[in-house]
Amino acid sequence: MSRCLVTGGAGFIGSHLTEELLAAGHHVTVLDNLSTGRADNLKGLGGHPRLTIRTGSITDQMLLAEVVRDADSIYHLAAAVGVKLVADDPVRTIETNIYPTEALLQLAVQGGGKPFFLASTSEVYGKNPKEQWTEEDDLHLGPTSRPRWAYGCSKAIDEFLALAYFRKHGLPVVIARFFNVVGPRQVGHYGMVIPRFVDQALSGGPVIVYDDGGQVRCFAHVREVVASIMSLMGTPAAQGQVFNIGSDKPWSIRQLAEAVIAKVDPAVRIEHLPYSQAYGDDFEDVRRRVPDVSRLKQTIGSTPQLGLESILDDIIAWKRSQIASAAG
Ligand code: UDP
Repeated sequence: MSRCLVTGGAGFIGSHLTEELLAAGHHVTVLDNLSTGRADNLKGLGGHPRLTIRTGSITDQMLLAEVVRDADSIYHLAAAVGVKLVADDPVRTIETNIYPTEALLQLAVQGGGKPFFLASTSEVYGKNPKEQWTEEDDLHLGPTSRPRWAYGCSKAIDEFLALAYFRKHGLPVVIARFFNVVGPRQVGHYGMVIPRFVDQALSGGPVIVYDDGGQVRCFAHVREVVASIMSLMGTPAAQGQVFNIGSDKPWSIRQLAEAVIAKVDPAVRIEHLPYSQAYGDDFEDVRRRVPDVSRLKQTIGSTPQLGLESILDDIIAWKRSQIASAAG
């Protein structure tokens, strides 16, 4: 039993991780400024005797020092996330995603070398044209005039920092690049496609597919992603390495829209919208994003396996229960 700090613990992935760490018997301190995270995400844990929630920013150095002092390990998930948020506010993206990571790494070293999990993203690969991406592949970020790349670039710097702290100070860091993690509690305000499609279909449509819908993504259930994070943190061989975490089953966005509609209401229509109208003229999308997950498999013996059909069932059931409880 240990004391874990989860930054971003009220967020979508962070709240699921917090639940599982508590279920494994740990004490958890959540640090979240509730900007994109929501207190509601931790509602089910209200009053848990081993949970402490600190509402505050990772840019607050005093607060960071205090919460790190009281932790044995650090799970750093707080960040500016979501293609829409990042496109709308690149300054916030850079400030939130870079300086606090360095501050946390320093504190972890000063505290005697506390195990450190860094949440990174498949966005760091940029628009690499390869069919499947391995952790040793080149990064293909676009120009700085396009704000989308600020996110991947900020996370790539975090990775450089974490790996440097591993090499220079022996800090036990584990880095994960998430590939389109989805599940209950994810919301569509910041651009994420599945909650948007499900909301649109449940309210009668249309489902809005950007561009031609030929973009390809792989979707992994948050429960399996959290299990991978916990296994990696329990595996000494994972230290000092970067891991792709996700499913490797590709789906086009058009197929995704059709799958959502088939499950919610076959009468719903699909409409296409140009990127310029969705995100503005300086937007660039990633055409294909499929991970090679063999390093994860070799290291922990498993990878996320749940199929899109089951994932959608779970998300739609959650959405319907939310709607029912809001209606009283
Ligand atoms: N997308 C879409 N309609 C939406 C939101 C997203 O067609 O309402 C597309 C988007 O252009 C992208 C894919 O779905 O190709 C996944 O988008 P998301 O923002 O979820 O993740 P990311 O682009 O980071 O993979």
